[in-house]
Amino acid sequence: MVPDTVDADSEFAFELRTCRWAEREWPPDGDSDADTTHIVARQLGTKRRRWDTIVLECDPGALAQRANFGPKRLESDHLHIVRNAPAEWTYYRDALPHPGYPWRYVREAIHEADDRGILEARKQGNRIEIRRKWPYPDWCERIVAIENKPDLDASAARALGSQLEYDVAVALADEVWVATRQTGERVEPVLLEDLPVEAGVLALDPDTLEADVGWYPRSLAADESGTRILERPDDGTRGSSAARFEYVDPQQKADKRLAIAERAYERGWRSFVDTMRPDCRYFELQAAEGAQLLPRCGATGDCQTAAQCSGSCPDFQPEPPIWRTKGWPLEGGPGKRLKALLADRRRRQRPRTDTGAGQ
Ligand code: SF4
Repeated sequence: MVPDTVDADSEFAFELRTCRWAEREWPPDGDSDADTTHIVARQLGTKRRRWDTIVLECDPGALAQRANFGPKRLESDHLHIVRNAPAEWTYYRDALPHPGYPWRYVREAIHEADDRGILEARKQGNRIEIRRKWPYPDWCERIVAIENKPDLDASAARALGSQLEYDVAVALADEVWVATRQTGERVEPVLLEDLPVEAGVLALDPDTLEADVGWYPRSLAADESGTRILERPDDGTRGSSAARFEYVDPQQKADKRLAIAERAYERGWRSFVDTMRPDCRYFELQAAEGAQLLPRCGATGDCQTAAQCSGSCPDFQPEPPIWRTKGWPLEGGPGKRLKALLADRRRRQRPRTDTGAGQ
């Protein structure tokens, strides 16, 4: 028989519960600062390291100004322009620092930014001049990375240890945490593992969304150079292979942090639906607690992952066409409405995104 509750035991469901908890409760010490607001996203990072959950701590005024640029992310070429665009009309090559790639790509990006409504551009003779519409604000103050490990068996703990060591060494985030399932034991088992002391530990009950801090993290030197671990010794004995690493300079880190923040701003954590098949007749969103909507597969009764919920799923069946004729708009049935519902919830977490560019 198909169970009628969301399976909060899977790693994916736990991750979504952590996101929801962070959205409601951050920061974990409950000492919320009126001068800070936050945005939660998931599955973002670099090509070498992807974090499960990300919390951006933001300046509320600057975040509201960021909305001028619309809900979509700004890529690095657009950021280069809007961050350096002058208040008065100026020839673009006089206004912008050399980008490190040919100017013709900058011209293309200027036209795109103009079309998108985030920059003003005009032709004076054969010269392109630009003028900013708004200053690009310094909206993201801190980045917090959370690794979700609901069940920490020995091999998960080993993998987690090296992931956190990597995060601490490169210090791309300002803080790293591990979130694990609350066991109710006097000492949470995760605290007995050999994890870097710089990483915080959070014990979360995914059903009640109550969390205890088992260990507070140390702030990492995100604005200084970091060390990227490329290879570890194959064992701990003398004469084994040496570790290999490289330095990451502060500017490279700052660019990467802003790129991550922009992607987090666009995607949030409810975008899981974008990589699933809400057009399948079995796709459901089910409220687990309060108003959180988690995906649920009506065929299996589980909270399915994006990998399972794809066109290759053996149980996939398209929404019957008749569903699109009974009060649903012709361009889409319930699946479209579910996507819109999640997008609307994501928008509510971004002040003023209904009024910015590209609307
Ligand atoms: S595609 Fe598969 S996993 Fe997704 S809702 Fe349909 S049956 Fe379930």
